Amino acid sequence: MTGLTLALSKGRILDESLPLLEHVGIAPAGDIDRLLRVPSTRADVSLVMIRPADVPTYVEHGAADLGIVGKDVLMEHGGSDLYEPLDIGIAQCRMSVAAVKGYVAPRNRRLRIATKYPEIARRFYAARGEQVEIIKLYGSMELAPLVGLADQIVDLVATGNTLRANGLVEVEKICDISSRLVVNKASMKMKHAAIQHLIDAFRDADAKRVRAS
Ligand code: AMP
Repeated sequence: MTGLTLALSKGRILDESLPLLEHVGIAPAGDIDRLLRVPSTRADVSLVMIRPADVPTYVEHGAADLGIVGKDVLMEHGGSDLYEPLDIGIAQCRMSVAAVKGYVAPRNRRLRIATKYPEIARRFYAARGEQVEIIKLYGSMELAPLVGLADQIVDLVATGNTLRANGLVEVEKICDISSRLVVNKASMKMKHAAIQHLIDAFRDADAKRVRAS
């Protein structure tokens, strides 16, 4: 099989991936809102639409040759058995710690941290020698400090509007985040020419996008 399967992260990243894919000459040839697997306008490339957190798993197992996924997901997934050849520069934001404005850290107990990213949070606080209690949530992290579920949250911040609207402030940036192209290791060997061609096309498209902005 010489065709390539490209896994796209549904949601925010997908919206920003589509214009970049167009620069690379790839457009979905089907209804991406309903179909999970669609052919593309390039006969050798098909697309699969996946929940962001599942993209590394599909690519590691070779169910997709390549994928587009946020660095946040890759960091949380941990020790991935895949290549990450390119920062494609879309969906830029940062991973940050936030808390209620005017918040003071409790002295008599461990800090409680609410997050969708328990691994990233665990590593961050461990690196500074702080013992914390991590509370895993699946969304709307901003609510947790408002109702006393947590002292701080660890979440993605782009404009900062969501934090501000909820009376929260950014306490510290953990790292910058953007979307990455990831590649299955066996595919990189077996389909090297086709994949390298695509990586180069993405690099060119990103460079043009940066120059145009
Ligand atoms: P903002 O209000 O622009 O700071 O955006 C923050 C909200 O959007 C938070 O709920 C984040 O979890 C989410 N968010 C921001 N950037 C991203 C991204 N690149 N990928 C996924 N979620 C994001």
